[in-house]
Amino acid sequence: MRFVLHGAAVLTLTAITQLGGIAWVVALAFRRRRWAAFLLAYGLLWAVAQLAAPQLGREPIPCRGGPLRMQSAFYCVTLRNFVSPELREVAQRAAERVARDHPGTVTLALDGNFPFLSGFPMIPHLSHGDGDKLDFAFFYADERGYAVGRTKSPIGYFAFERAGEETCPPAFPTFRWEMRWLRPAMAGLELEPERTAALLRALLSDTRVGKVFLEPPLAARLGVSGGKLRFQGCRAARHDDHIHVQL
Ligand SMILES: [Zn+2]
Repeated sequence: MRFVLHGAAVLTLTAITQLGGIAWVVALAFRRRRWAAFLLAYGLLWAVAQLAAPQLGREPIPCRGGPLRMQSAFYCVTLRNFVSPELREVAQRAAERVARDHPGTVTLALDGNFPFLSGFPMIPHLSHGDGDKLDFAFFYADERGYAVGRTKSPIGYFAFERAGEETCPPAFPTFRWEMRWLRPAMAGLELEPERTAALLRALLSDTRVGKVFLEPPLAARLGVSGGKLRFQGCRAARHDDHIHVQL
């Protein structure tokens, strides 16, 4: 029973953070203060990742500052903010462009990739395994206007704009989740269309960008179009809550 529980913990931590499972195994060697051992081991592995990943072709999206940063500390702590140097450059350029046209704007990134190994899956994404994929949060506004650094959903994802409901027929199983249980946690914010459209245009105009995923009715509402702007298809997750970009 113990073995099964520890196995599940290792698998879960590996799935969420890539290196957390290793820290758990290390902690098992300690009979006392296992939690402290786990936190220390994870902290060390985390620090090693920050230094080693750039040598192996993955760089972290910044966790603080602007005009580009991760949406929350969660993504930094869990090592989900690593991308290829080229994609980091694309993201930085796009964020700078939005901030130039709309001073003070902070572009928020969501899941990128893990620091090591190409092909390592990042659940629940179907891609995000090679360093060349990154998600961005939409921009939001309250009654006073653009809300700097804030998102409607606490994790940036799943605040669906209810666009594209008719695009796909109901199916089971599906990645087009509704996430109704998360609605009480949503902030009273509205999509800020100007900045969201500006980020989309900046990404689409970059020659290094291969594809951008967004639900087509939402793209139409924002007045953004272009050959690289694609519908991800009905078999993948919805994209009326975030922007997906890949090289
Ligand atoms: Zn994505």
